[in-house]
Amino acid sequence: MVASDLPGVEELRLLSAGFEGVSPAEVLRWAQQRFGVRVAIGTSFQLSGLVLLHQAATVGLSLECFTIDTDLLFPESVEHRLEIERFFKLKVDVLRPAASPEEQARELGAELWQRQPDTCCTLRKVVPLQEKLKRLDAWITGLRRDQGESRHGVQILESYLFDPLRDHYVLKINPLASWTRDDVWKYVQTHQIPYNRLLDHGYRSIGCRPCTRPAGEGGNERAGRWTGFDKAECGLHTFMKAHV
Ligand code: SF4
Repeated sequence: MVASDLPGVEELRLLSAGFEGVSPAEVLRWAQQRFGVRVAIGTSFQLSGLVLLHQAATVGLSLECFTIDTDLLFPESVEHRLEIERFFKLKVDVLRPAASPEEQARELGAELWQRQPDTCCTLRKVVPLQEKLKRLDAWITGLRRDQGESRHGVQILESYLFDPLRDHYVLKINPLASWTRDDVWKYVQTHQIPYNRLLDHGYRSIGCRPCTRPAGEGGNERAGRWTGFDKAECGLHTFMKAHV
């Protein structure tokens, strides 16, 4: 989306405020009508992503879905993705980093995540996402305000300058911004959507194997990520400059 197609900041704020309290399915329907094939759901199939896929299916939307496989995921997460493809009769676009973990270790040393997790996340997550976003105008996410301090300010619609050289903006659409963990958990159970079985073993937010620990109940949902580092985000939601 180039700047001339972008709603102005105030218009966007009003549009976003108008979506508060509206069902996620309606926000998704608007997204598909507005952006056609240039919008996609990006998800790692955690509870919020499952709600989005189910809401889209409920109203018959055929939104593209993509995910990032860092080649460092838990086997349970990979199996869960296949289960979700079967459940929703969906073909997920799986994005991968350029280098395998072994190639990365040869070039940058073993276990980069232990020494430079930001670099590791950039190479294995952010760069594949950037490649994908070159072909999109809007990216639907499962971000929720209750997921921790770094996400308290999430709005339903947020515009970001993606590529200044090409004047390319991306609208981030967060239909579940106001939902809570209880809301998404109840939704998944009510609709009997298959969930990642690691959630039954104390994990709350599930990322790469080396950087995810069980976090127990209560408190920050993302507390089990990057234990020992002052890091709460992998960079996927922080690398772009907000358009304000
Ligand atoms: Fe690397 Fe950990 Fe980031 Fe995965 S979560 S890309 S292993 S630093």
